[in-house]
Amino acid sequence: MTRKDDMRFEDFDLRPEILRALADLGYEEPTPIQQGTMDALLRDKDMIGQAQTGSGKTAAFMLPILDRVEEDSKDLQALVLCPTRELALQVADASRSFAKYLDGVEVVPVYGGAPIVDQIAALGRGGQIVVGTPGRVLDLMRRGKMLLADCRMVVLDEADEMLSMGFIDDVKDILKATPWGKQTALFSATMPDPITRLAEDELHAPEHVKIASKEITVDTIEQRVAFCEPKDKLDLLERFIQETQPRCAIVFARTKIGTQRLADDLKRRGHKVRALHGDMSQGSRDSVMIAFRNQRVPILVATDVAARGLDVSHVTHVVNYELPDEAEVYVHRIGRTGRVGREGFAISFVSNKERFKLDQVEALLKRKIQVWGEDAPAPAAPAADAGLSVDDAAAAEPSGHAPAAGDGATIDGEQPKRKRRRRGGRGRGKGGEGGGGQPPAPVAAE
Ligand code: AMP
Repeated sequence: MTRKDDMRFEDFDLRPEILRALADLGYEEPTPIQQGTMDALLRDKDMIGQAQTGSGKTAAFMLPILDRVEEDSKDLQALVLCPTRELALQVADASRSFAKYLDGVEVVPVYGGAPIVDQIAALGRGGQIVVGTPGRVLDLMRRGKMLLADCRMVVLDEADEMLSMGFIDDVKDILKATPWGKQTALFSATMPDPITRLAEDELHAPEHVKIASKEITVDTIEQRVAFCEPKDKLDLLERFIQETQPRCAIVFARTKIGTQRLADDLKRRGHKVRALHGDMSQGSRDSVMIAFRNQRVPILVATDVAARGLDVSHVTHVVNYELPDEAEVYVHRIGRTGRVGREGFAISFVSNKERFKLDQVEALLKRKIQVWGEDAPAPAAPAADAGLSVDDAAAAEPSGHAPAAGDGATIDGEQPKRKRRRRGGRGRGKGGEGGGGQPPAPVAAE
């Protein structure tokens, strides 16, 4: 990952408690998206931030939130909306790790599928920062249990998804309940033009920060395709698993039923796999994610509920058993591997009927994906890496209210009154001025 070597978190004049937590996490220097956005966010600017998957977007928006939160007040001051339950919990966990030395700062995750009474109780105790899925946030608002009148920072994580058909109405209703003049920030790896235009309606003179990269996907992820008819995909997958012995792989399928069936088929063939999809109970989703994060289960077969944002640092392989309907989702799926500069391997099984989807993916990537087996090195599991991730602590992973896109049929006036912590007078940062083995021959190769 390209970084400016001379920039440090200290340059942003962050509170010492936050700097101490970052040091504990082993964050030595800000990543490019952090360098590019934090200064403007600290100055209350609205923001559209775009950077590749696994590039540190969570800290980019959460550190400025934590820096300005007023712990003396128990009012809800910042709201982060995420598309899935898993992501909401992950963002909340990461935020708590950044906030661990900030006494009195509470981060409350709220998401469907978990008892609402517990979340109401947590909100009642006073949480300045809420991280949630839109459906549950609306539910809590309508019950009068979540007041947004003092909320002065709103973040849409995976913003293009949050502004897409499945979520837009809920998100607009939530935003309407927040004060005029609040700060709004949108973050994603993908931001199609129509979505950017829509986003601009919700933002006030936003700064756009797009971390320039030659490619939309990170170059540490090797990408391949294998052409294969649907009836042969299971055999191909088995050969792929045998060849590569993945230490930690996510296999993406399109529908909930198809995902469960594939997991069952693999189990019957003696593989250690678990399924993850929106038809499972929250308890099962939790235990699957814990087992996967703890590396007790090497293969997760999932719908797109796992496509966005999930940060499991040691994912070595991603398999698109079926291509997603939208090309952007491909980018998010394969971004589950190759996190923060690590290496990863992604392969897509493409049937004749899916060729047009591959064309769309390649158009988005602006390049052809090489056919698996037409090059020498095999996609062996990359070396283990202790990593810098905050995710490896077996965080519980409750499930979301709104199912993700592609998950079968559904996808799960005035300036704020409160005085902000003064930023002027203290030196601002320099950041963001103004802002194994030989691969088998592919089945039915071209
Ligand atoms: P995110 O894109 O927010 O999911 O972050 C991806 C991974 O990068 C997570 O495991 C973070 O803990 C890690 N990370 C974020 N910022 C930094 C940093 N400045 N230095 C090292 N690791 C980081």
